[in-house]
Amino acid sequence: MKKAKHLVRDAAAEILLAGRITHPSVRARDKLTIVTFHRVLPATILGQYPLPGIAVTPEELKRFLEVFQDHYSVGSLYECARLHQSGERSEKPPLAVTFDDGQLDNYLFALPVLNAMNMRASFYVVTDAIESNEVLWHDRIAYAVQRLRQRSESELRTWLADWGVSGDAADPVNAAVAAAKLLDPGERNRHLERLEKIVGAHMRPDWDGMMTWDQLREMQSDGHEIGSHSTSHPILPLVSDQELHQETSHSRRLLEAQLDHEVRSFCYPNGDYDQRVIASVQQAGYEFAVTTRYGINSQNSDPFSLRRVDLQSGYGTNAAGRFRSSGLLLRMSGLLPGMA
Ligand SMILES: [Zn+2]
Repeated sequence: MKKAKHLVRDAAAEILLAGRITHPSVRARDKLTIVTFHRVLPATILGQYPLPGIAVTPEELKRFLEVFQDHYSVGSLYECARLHQSGERSEKPPLAVTFDDGQLDNYLFALPVLNAMNMRASFYVVTDAIESNEVLWHDRIAYAVQRLRQRSESELRTWLADWGVSGDAADPVNAAVAAAKLLDPGERNRHLERLEKIVGAHMRPDWDGMMTWDQLREMQSDGHEIGSHSTSHPILPLVSDQELHQETSHSRRLLEAQLDHEVRSFCYPNGDYDQRVIASVQQAGYEFAVTTRYGINSQNSDPFSLRRVDLQSGYGTNAAGRFRSSGLLLRMSGLLPGMA
């Protein structure tokens, strides 16, 4: 059944591209397309990482970038959004490549691919995490749940029930992260600390970590944009006014001081925002902000709630396991929210 569905989708993707419905020269004409990546991990590491849905391999990244290069004028978010806003038209439609969270793997595995292809991107970093080299909370949960799962399935079920997650969730790691997003930050931390008491705290694998200021400065001098992804990656609509100011304004000031460069774009942690959050981002002096809402942007899209297309491992791979640009371009057309 799954295979049949996959075959139908592959055929539809080919037909839509042949009919130029999803061809970027038609579909993305006068539009701003923004793609989102999180982690870039070699296959051996990806196999151990508890949230593989937010990762691609360096080889996949290269294949995606080759398709982008054929059809779009690729650049950082600021570059592309400014060009789009000005109404100026380049030969190919603009495509901004963005990476969220500031993980070390971006420097190790994405940067060499981008630089070798002479392409620029935007990296959204969490300033507290850069300073402390601490794991972000979604990864802390994922690593802790993964370890508990390896220890004991029954203990895992008890813990999940405590998080408010059904014990038979097919993907307990993702279910626990999703449930934690709904918790008050204090409560989430208490849960997590109790869990880490059992399985051990700060036990991320050796390969994992955050990028350093020196690495970010190097990327910036290569022409990449460094933007803010807040100070502590909270769910912004849930924090107090004072904390919100800290998350938007302080992170920008710190980045500008460390990078000696103006910081112009912001990325909402977990994609969560509301009018109060937008006002704070504007007040902090940013010119653009990106969300996790799926889609592509038109000339009159709000520059503070730009839509993106999230790309994961396996996108563009057909039922026979071969990469086809038609599948990737269908996803990037903004016409297809989910691709399993
Ligand atoms: Zn994030």
